[in-house]
Amino acid sequence: MSELIRKNASELVDLLSSGEVSSVEVTQAHIDRTAAVDSAVHSYLHVSPESALATAAEIDRKRAAGEKLHPLAGLPIAVKDNLTTTDAPTTAGSKILEGWIPQYDATVVRKIREAGMPILGKTNLDEFAMGSSTEFSAYGPSKNPWDLTRIPGGSGGGSSSAVASFQAPIAFGSDTGGSIRFPAAVTGTVGIKPTYGAVSRYGLIALASSLDQVGPVSRNVLDAALLQDLIGGHDPHDSTSLPESLGSMVEAAKRQDVKGLRVGVIKELNGEGFQAGVKARFNESLRLLEAAGAEIVEVSCPSFEYAIAAYYLILPAEASSNLAKFDSVRFGLRKAPDGNPTIERVMAATREAGFGPEVKRRIILGTYALSSGYYDAYYGSAQKVRTLIQRDFAAAFAKADVLASPTAPTTAFKLGEKLEDPLAMYLNDIATIPANLAGIPGISIPNGLADEDGLPVGIQLLAPAREDSRLYQVGAALETMHEEQWGKRMIDFAPELEVR
Ligand code: GLN
Repeated sequence: MSELIRKNASELVDLLSSGEVSSVEVTQAHIDRTAAVDSAVHSYLHVSPESALATAAEIDRKRAAGEKLHPLAGLPIAVKDNLTTTDAPTTAGSKILEGWIPQYDATVVRKIREAGMPILGKTNLDEFAMGSSTEFSAYGPSKNPWDLTRIPGGSGGGSSSAVASFQAPIAFGSDTGGSIRFPAAVTGTVGIKPTYGAVSRYGLIALASSLDQVGPVSRNVLDAALLQDLIGGHDPHDSTSLPESLGSMVEAAKRQDVKGLRVGVIKELNGEGFQAGVKARFNESLRLLEAAGAEIVEVSCPSFEYAIAAYYLILPAEASSNLAKFDSVRFGLRKAPDGNPTIERVMAATREAGFGPEVKRRIILGTYALSSGYYDAYYGSAQKVRTLIQRDFAAAFAKADVLASPTAPTTAFKLGEKLEDPLAMYLNDIATIPANLAGIPGISIPNGLADEDGLPVGIQLLAPAREDSRLYQVGAALETMHEEQWGKRMIDFAPELEVR
């Protein structure tokens, strides 16, 4: 394995800017890795080696000519396949978009292009980002590089497995209920969902517009900060994007100070239903933070009990509306039924053939929840729960600067284990969903291995809206404490993948 691919993005950035390595070398090393392992891991739905190398060569030429470049210039990246790209198909993991090449780049894609970052390819996801395992991708699941019989998390399991198997130093994810943080937790990587509105969603294929957020997946907190500093900020193309800048995440990540900081442990997210090894590692990290001068306090968020129920009304309601545009006319697939092809029949045949079972389940749930007569009982009640959850967070943040919980109740489950049981799959997101409902930022960082199965565990930190920098500051501090304790990064415990 080339040494280059094991480096953190921030290390590669330094090597690139000092001229010690070229972008072509770094990019080629990742392309070679993908050729060697992705038949087993299946992180990518589409790879673009030629255009990645062309970008890399262009950056190398500019650097040699002494042009001023963006700090991330030449660093390759993988892009989740629900972000539009004009030079590659964008499927969102669905057959209904098979072969569709968008007319415009997502804003975050435009920003990485302008910075000169080669795009390695588009990563796998559950269809339209609905799921926690990538098993709902119409193109087959991605695998967890720690154990190929297990899920890499979802919906962004393509990005998490790519970063964890050294096929990309950094990647984009999107998080509506945990799709960045859960995949990060189960693959030993870092994932952050920024504050709602902190990063533009223009060109993100919408799942649930009041919850969706784009963010980084990486092997290191500083790496994620580098990317958030590039992609954050106001975008006139996204009416939900915040007008103000949230400051430098890189500076926050370098601060690494937890003295006097109050860390609130969410009582409801550390008890029943959480695997023993997950809880043990979580408690150890609290002790580390305490030893470094943080104060650990307990907080209670009683409304979290209703978070999943509320989420599975709000999300399907919004998704059913967002997915109405896939009508056989504007995008991708078109199926003509036998006999008289009226527009309604073409639309019905296309949606029947193009959407998978989870998407259909949620469209039915969503249209039902929005139907007149049920609207107040379901959607209306869910919105009230959302307000209660926001109040719980407000009360908790009166007592604590950041909140902490395990990112997920368990380590990576087996492929197929929860496929026939939608409710079990939904319950997996108990710790991540509240942040989306409240619009606040959350990060998952590697938190050691569970004793029972030796698989990665994640710890989640949450901060008030717009206070993303706290997550980088505390996350980076905890990461350093862990690395001192372990003598290496968590990803370095992962088994070698030598498959071809
Ligand atoms: N697993 C959650 C769901 O199925 C989260 C998805 C996401 O964040 N995109 O809705």
